[in-house]
Amino acid sequence: MEQDDGFIMVLRETGPGCLIAVHNDDVPDYLSEIDNDVESLAFPLWPLNKFIHENPETAFQEHKAHDALTSFMRSQEGWQVTPSAYGMDTAWVAIYDTRRPGPAVSFNAEMDALPGLGHACGHNLIATASVAAALATAHIIRNHNLPGKVLIFGTPGEEGIGGGKIRLLEAGAYKGVDISLISHPGIFNNSPMVRTTAFCRIEVEYFGKAAHAANSPWLGINALDALVVAYNAVSVLRQQTMPGDVIGLSITDGGGPAANVIHAHAAGVCVLRATSSSRLKALEKKAAACFRAGAEATGAKVNIQITQGYADHVPNSVLAARYTEHWNTLPDPPEPPIPPPGQLTWVKASTDQGNLSYALPSVNASFAIPPGVEGGPPHSHDFEKASGTGEAFARGLRVAKALAGTAVDVIVREGLLDEVKEQWRRDMGLDTKVLG
Ligand SMILES: [Zn+2]
Ligand SMILES: [Zn+2]
Repeated sequence: MEQDDGFIMVLRETGPGCLIAVHNDDVPDYLSEIDNDVESLAFPLWPLNKFIHENPETAFQEHKAHDALTSFMRSQEGWQVTPSAYGMDTAWVAIYDTRRPGPAVSFNAEMDALPGLGHACGHNLIATASVAAALATAHIIRNHNLPGKVLIFGTPGEEGIGGGKIRLLEAGAYKGVDISLISHPGIFNNSPMVRTTAFCRIEVEYFGKAAHAANSPWLGINALDALVVAYNAVSVLRQQTMPGDVIGLSITDGGGPAANVIHAHAAGVCVLRATSSSRLKALEKKAAACFRAGAEATGAKVNIQITQGYADHVPNSVLAARYTEHWNTLPDPPEPPIPPPGQLTWVKASTDQGNLSYALPSVNASFAIPPGVEGGPPHSHDFEKASGTGEAFARGLRVAKALAGTAVDVIVREGLLDEVKEQWRRDMGLDTKVLG
């Protein structure tokens, strides 16, 4: 069927049993059913994906996306939808609850775009993939009379340091939820073992005392000197940092244009990134010491304000293994292949899904979409165009199938959720024996 927007929908013929995976146990294989189901969801989801892409809204302003997604979910049988959830206008929750005890599996749907760049991070595809995966999971539950619960969280404000997921987490939205699944488009990787960086922002301000720089400089306290000493101390620190540490430092107030005064005020902003939250804490201490050194050397007073950004993302390798199996069993895996088991895919960016990964087992699957003509990565005009194509949408649906397969596995495979949680405790450095 050809739609008037140029996206050609081709329903793939999947003969019975063509996706039968070989397992060593008696768990039925639901992937063929998920595959067919998601293919049929392509019809209603393409216009939704297109609408979100063509109506970009920045962090916490995702009103159109919120309304479109919640009204779509309301039209789905068996789902309870809460708009403007947990005190955020554009957050929402949809729950499919069998009311029979079982695992609670969740998917996050990001919705926000970038100021001036539109959907250059492809969050329209994230929302689409999560909705498709959640619906397919719920269909399997209904068709096979399985227990448990499926949740979709509409998670606003991921860009910047919005931290919509952190707000949801702090409001208790993930209480009783066993796993959190999400994906993110890019152009380089297909991988469920994504590690992102942890980051924080340090604002530093020095307060000195103005004086005439020629007549009586000894009466002044030079705030700019304090900042210059700190800048140099940070530059020296850079030699002893670890691979993966990144220190960015800028001067936001150099004391003003007058060269014949001792500067009373100076300020700077520093952004730190590290491969883990614990490493970031260590780096934070070292940078703060550099800032205090500026004050010590000059006598200026210093004010150091640290704003926590996002934690690094810790992928759950047990969930990732299930995702990989489904991805590879589905027909025609696209390039590049998923890396070998256990191999991490490092991404220099940061996400609030990282904070969630410290609260419950998480997968944040990277998927490659066909790049635009310039091969632009996320946050480029080129990627904004690439994330609106039918090919990108089709990749998102493939991700949805693998995510749904993973969620269904957690519900139907005995002992799998325990294994997932055991791995999470190990990743968190928690004593698995004590917590059982
Ligand atoms: Zn982004
Ligand atoms: Zn993004």
